[in-house]
Amino acid sequence: MLSEIKTLLIVQDRDVTLRRLREELRKLPEDATRAKGRLAGDEAALVTAKSRLADNEVAIQKLQLEIETRRTTIGRLKTQQFETRKNDEYTALGHEIERYAGDIARLEDSELALMEKGETLKASSVAAASALTATRVKVQEELSLMKERHVALSASIAELESERSALASGVESSLLARYDRLFDKKAPAVVPLQHGICGGCHMRVTPTTFTQVKGEKGLAFCENCSRLLYFGAD
Ligand SMILES: [Zn+2]
Repeated sequence: MLSEIKTLLIVQDRDVTLRRLREELRKLPEDATRAKGRLAGDEAALVTAKSRLADNEVAIQKLQLEIETRRTTIGRLKTQQFETRKNDEYTALGHEIERYAGDIARLEDSELALMEKGETLKASSVAAASALTATRVKVQEELSLMKERHVALSASIAELESERSALASGVESSLLARYDRLFDKKAPAVVPLQHGICGGCHMRVTPTTFTQVKGEKGLAFCENCSRLLYFGAD
């Protein structure tokens, strides 16, 4: 194998790894934002659950007040009933008392329903709080792992870059520029020629190119995709 090809294959191997690591590094902030978003979602869910529970409490207190008001009224009506000497007034007051008692019974039914609802809301609120705690722990773990990964990735990238640069310095500059352009547009830039087929575009090369690649007398490029070819198999 031509020495330029040998070197470029190693450069290409480092470039492939570098591309993958840089992409991973680039995505880390997005991953962190997503993790924090999950936390915000759980925080909002807890706020909603607590506010529903509080609203229900307020509704119960309002009902209790309405019940209390009617009880007071009944007390007053009973005193009036006790004091009256007119039969028709006594009966009318009795109807009034019955009406208020009916109101109280209905309000108490509603109160009971709200209290049952309150139990469910309380359970939801407790569940939301424990979900938030779990998410907080998990997200903190994830963020700290991401931080570690950021440090490790940066170190690996720096190491690979310096290795790559040392390797690349051994390649003639116009060839390296040609390789770089190819790698940027359509990596891999250096591909094997197998059974006369280019390993990059999978097209058959001309017999002249085939002979040139197999003979390894000089650099040869695929006439279809311009990739640099090396001999793979007959
Ligand atoms: Zn090709």
